[in-house]
Amino acid sequence: LFVTIEGLDFSGKSTLVGNLKRALADAGCRAHFTREPGGTPVAERIREIVLDPAAEMDDRTEAYLYAAARADHTRGVILPRLARGETVVCERYLDSSLAYQGAGRGLGIEAVRRLNALAATLVPDRTFYLRLDAAERERRALERGEPDRLEAAGREFTARVEAAFDALAAREPQRIRVLDATLPPDELVRKVLTCLAARPEQ
Ligand code: C5P
Repeated sequence: LFVTIEGLDFSGKSTLVGNLKRALADAGCRAHFTREPGGTPVAERIREIVLDPAAEMDDRTEAYLYAAARADHTRGVILPRLARGETVVCERYLDSSLAYQGAGRGLGIEAVRRLNALAATLVPDRTFYLRLDAAERERRALERGEPDRLEAAGREFTARVEAAFDALAAREPQRIRVLDATLPPDELVRKVLTCLAARPEQ
């Protein structure tokens, strides 16, 4: 089973992933947790480049770098683990590229989808999208003393990314489950587990 977790900054992806890790381990489920960009030595090096605020690059270069990291991660880690019957939970995957590079950077969602065709032929069995509105994101950023992080991304950019995630979720309701990110952490993990348990065996 291939599960991905998506959402904007401050939506609580890492917290959900941490809780899910514990819950699945308690249930005796063999699950591998990973995140994008990264997961292999080469993809981790690409991560350093794409997430370096000082590294200025063309938007297309950025999109190709995410795709390159994804190709390595998918073929090097995700597919082999799935083939062994493990569940793989990945924080961010193709949907993040569609939203950030496609909509955020304005390259176009379909253009970024095409660009990733060779990198990620794998479609997640289930994607959980942690949705948090702009006001709540702002509140969390202030609470954590990280308003700069919110500011650096730019409100318009973030709004485009959010609208894209919403549109992707509306287009694929079977795969993408929208979760209200303001719910308490234990309730979120419960919703995820219920949803995964309801899936037919792969
Ligand atoms: O996963 P995390 O939230 O730590 O991602 C770090 C940053 O990477 C995000 O703030 C986002 O702006 C950026 N990112 C991106 N395009 C992707 C994936 C992540 O711009 N495809």
